[in-house]
Amino acid sequence: MGSRILVVEDETDLAELVAINLRGAGHDVAVAHDGKTALAEIQRSQPDLLVLDVMLPDISGIEVCRRLRRSAQTVRLPVIMLTARTDEVDRVVGFEVGADDYVSKPFSPRELVLRVEAILRRTIPAAEVVGPQVIALGKLVIDVPAHRVEVEGEEILLTALEFRLLLDLASRAGRVQSRDALLERVWGYSPNVETRTVDTHVKRLREKLGAGAVHIETVRGVGYRALKS
Ligand code: CA
Repeated sequence: MGSRILVVEDETDLAELVAINLRGAGHDVAVAHDGKTALAEIQRSQPDLLVLDVMLPDISGIEVCRRLRRSAQTVRLPVIMLTARTDEVDRVVGFEVGADDYVSKPFSPRELVLRVEAILRRTIPAAEVVGPQVIALGKLVIDVPAHRVEVEGEEILLTALEFRLLLDLASRAGRVQSRDALLERVWGYSPNVETRTVDTHVKRLREKLGAGAVHIETVRGVGYRALKS
């Protein structure tokens, strides 16, 4: 079953190359060449995933992603950013922007397709959730089927990926989870993939959780652990 993907890139040759490869993998692909068109298209067609270039002629990809994350309607839309500069990576997947993942230019279309498929695989519908329906870590409460997180009674807007990361840690509270294990379960990647993704996402999750952040502990040199109290 293909997914609906919107590719946002002003370099028309690259946009077309990406679109052809994603269509070849069975997806239904639309292309936008600037940020304004992309935002309108997202409202109109509600795609399942966005491939978003940082450098766009009008609104930057970073600003597009930031706007999507501010709205309850689009906070969970999976976003993969295309970036030409390695020094942008922390910003792009960090708290400030909130992309789910990134691919650095130049990239192989095959690599991008693999990343897209990994993200789509892990987007599990709420109805398929098994296990406890509500998990509480002190004043941090996770309503699993509703994908809703509250800290001291205030709802926290999390992206789909942040929710999965929190749920993965919380459902194994008290036990340390390695970065490789998290990469495999939360991101769907094979272990030993060179990426700073786990650390930047945990940092962002902590910032969002505010007072609830005390329940996510760093275990130096190993990984992360959720604490029940
Ligand atoms: Ca561009």
